[in-house]
Amino acid sequence: MIVSIDADRCAGHGACVATCPEVFTLTSDGYVEVTVDRVPDELVELVKRAAAECPERAVLVDTP
Ligand code: SF4
Repeated sequence: MIVSIDADRCAGHGACVATCPEVFTLTSDGYVEVTVDRVPDELVELVKRAAAECPERAVLVDTP
């Protein structure tokens, strides 16, 4: 799985960081970055949850 953040939508609530800090991190300017190239298998479910719970629909997942 590959995950990215739609920076135009992200409002910096930090919910995704709280759900999966291994993958998402808050930047110094209050937005979120993804810290992995590919989501490890053991974190896939957490990342899916973060995407579902993002109030701005800014967590974009790609499961080729
Ligand atoms: S939950 Fe969504 S809006 Fe909030 S910081 Fe994460 S990506 Fe941004």
